[in-house]
Amino acid sequence: MQPLASSLRLIRSDYDAVVIGSGYGGGVAAARLARAGKRVAVLERGREICVGDFPRRFSDLSHDLQLSGRQTQLGSPTGLYDVRLGEDMHVLVGCGLGGGSLINAGVALRPDARVFKDPAWPSELAGDPLLEEGYREAWRWLRPARDPRAHERSKLKALSAASVALGVEPVAAPVTVSFVDCLNPAGIAQPACTLCGDCCGGCNVGAKNTVTLTYLPDALRHGAEIFTHAKVHHLAADDSGRWRIHFQVQPGADAASLDAVGSVSAALVVLAAGTLGSTEILLRSRQRGLALSDRLGHRFSANGDIIAFGWGGKLPVAGIGVGYPPKVQDAVVGAAVSGQIELVDVGNLANSLTVQEGALPSAMAPILPVLFLPNGRLLGALKSLISGVYKGPFAGLQTFFAVSHDSAAGQLTLEADRVVLRWPGASDEGVYRRLDAALEALVRQAGGTYVKNPLAGTVMGHQPATAHPLGGCGIGRDHRDGVVNHKGQVFAPGAGTGDVHAGLYVMDGSIMPRSLGVNPLLTITALAERAMAHMAGDYGWRDAGAAAANPGPGAATAARWTAARIAALGSASHHIQIEHGADGARDDEARQETADVGAPLFRGQRR
Ligand SMILES: Cc1cc2nc3c(=O)[nH]c(=O)nc-3n(C[C@H](O)[C@H](O)[C@H](O)COP(=O)(O)OP(=O)(O)OC[C@H]3O[C@@H](n4cnc5c(N)ncnc54)[C@H](O)[C@@H]3O)c2cc1C
Ligand code: SF4
Repeated sequence: MQPLASSLRLIRSDYDAVVIGSGYGGGVAAARLARAGKRVAVLERGREICVGDFPRRFSDLSHDLQLSGRQTQLGSPTGLYDVRLGEDMHVLVGCGLGGGSLINAGVALRPDARVFKDPAWPSELAGDPLLEEGYREAWRWLRPARDPRAHERSKLKALSAASVALGVEPVAAPVTVSFVDCLNPAGIAQPACTLCGDCCGGCNVGAKNTVTLTYLPDALRHGAEIFTHAKVHHLAADDSGRWRIHFQVQPGADAASLDAVGSVSAALVVLAAGTLGSTEILLRSRQRGLALSDRLGHRFSANGDIIAFGWGGKLPVAGIGVGYPPKVQDAVVGAAVSGQIELVDVGNLANSLTVQEGALPSAMAPILPVLFLPNGRLLGALKSLISGVYKGPFAGLQTFFAVSHDSAAGQLTLEADRVVLRWPGASDEGVYRRLDAALEALVRQAGGTYVKNPLAGTVMGHQPATAHPLGGCGIGRDHRDGVVNHKGQVFAPGAGTGDVHAGLYVMDGSIMPRSLGVNPLLTITALAERAMAHMAGDYGWRDAGAAAANPGPGAATAARWTAARIAALGSASHHIQIEHGADGARDDEARQETADVGAPLFRGQRR
């Protein structure tokens, strides 16, 4: 696929709008702003990784790991897997164009209806028809689907057999994966999932519906300029009422001659750098004088999320990815998650939980003996164990992703200019006992041993870890209650109680005021869609006529993005191409199938 990002050398000094971060929230904001005819820049700290270039071997994986903690700073700051080691809890987030969508399992679920009845949400949100519309748009763009043959996947069969212990049968899980060849809403052809199981290592097939294959190409197509290796440090209002965004150029940028720091200005800024990133930028901005709520950094939630394992079970699981091209011929793993058990406590929402069977990425295969065999470190020639991982005792390794609710009592603070998570007593949160009990019962039923944390003997220690960080810039009614209002506008304390900073928004996981109890990507996307719909209404963009204001490639005169051609380039790679102009037959097909590409964004908005 042709790169989406431009060289930082080409960045202008000012834009109508700057979007910081390129995960789900950033992708939605960039696409919607560009479609509304705004001159948009997206600033992403990580690098762009094209389909086919995600880690295949353990050495690739380790080069893409960045570890940071109070005493630790290892790996490249643009490494794909960004692990923050905390004294009370660790956090894993994605770093790269597309954010967490690059390495997540893509499970897309709506929270229990009781979640939005919690008074933590302002009343404007829960009953707003635009919330439903937001979910609809998120679904339309990310296209979650269930593996039509999920129940044939060994890992789901193993979960099903073990589910007797909990008395609830698993169901197929909706994941943001294309199970058939398709042309997606951004006009990009995606090949069908090869069921390689590598979703959490990065999809080298192009079948996972990442932000990089959906919202971001749409933003580009409508004129947005996308820059990687630009880590935003802080922002400030200037005298003319515009925002100045200060960023640091990250190592690896193709613009070696650029200054290490730069800045751009914009009338409108959308912070979408994720829970850790957006909170960190606002904490730094507050330190430099920007008036922000005292609630900034509060109500961090891990979404009751854990990853755990079952070792030595009797049934084959085939829960280790084979990658693409496959490391083992004729192996079928399935998407990283094929199915889940939903345990709903009708009397107490906090007790509800979801257990998903998962697949580990193939690049992790060589390290598994080290993690799971007591004498693993002595085994030395790990390469030779790779086939053993697929055939030997590791063929029965069960991986579980489990999600529930916690008290959201964590706090993000700034120490030595970096965001740090404090959550004394986090490991005593009741959710971990509940999840352990459910998972132990499942593993016992499978005849195996529950392995809560195979990394306990390493730098990871015994702290819990989450891949679902939420909160820090929570939605509230006013600045005494939250950091942003229900539309994502940042409160400006010191003015009236409900007053906001003009043109400053947050749209990502950081605005969640509580745990969701299900995997968060769909809700983050839906709330960003809803916020953008409100923004369009507030600024009167419904009358703007986005296509006229900003002729994109959809316009007759411009280079048109067309159907992608899926080309197997040699036997080793499988690329998606986006072409400008194309031959007739494929073009017609593309026109027909992309009929909705230029559809109005919001009800009532003209293009
Ligand atoms: C291994 C793994 C598996 C997961 N599985 C699932 C799943 O199955 N289902 C699900 O719903 N969720 C899952 N998640 C969580 C989900 O991916 C995240 O909740 C989601 O990506 C968060 O979206 P976001 O828009 O808030 O931010 P992100 O997707 O985190 O995007 C933020 C972006 O901002 C960039 N950024 C950060 N700081 C700066 C800065 N200072 N300047 C510029 N850019 C910056 C980051 O590099 C990143 O690209 C998983 C996560 C992981 C890590
Ligand atoms: S299973 Fe493999 S091909 Fe399918 S979405 Fe995941 S990584 Fe891509």
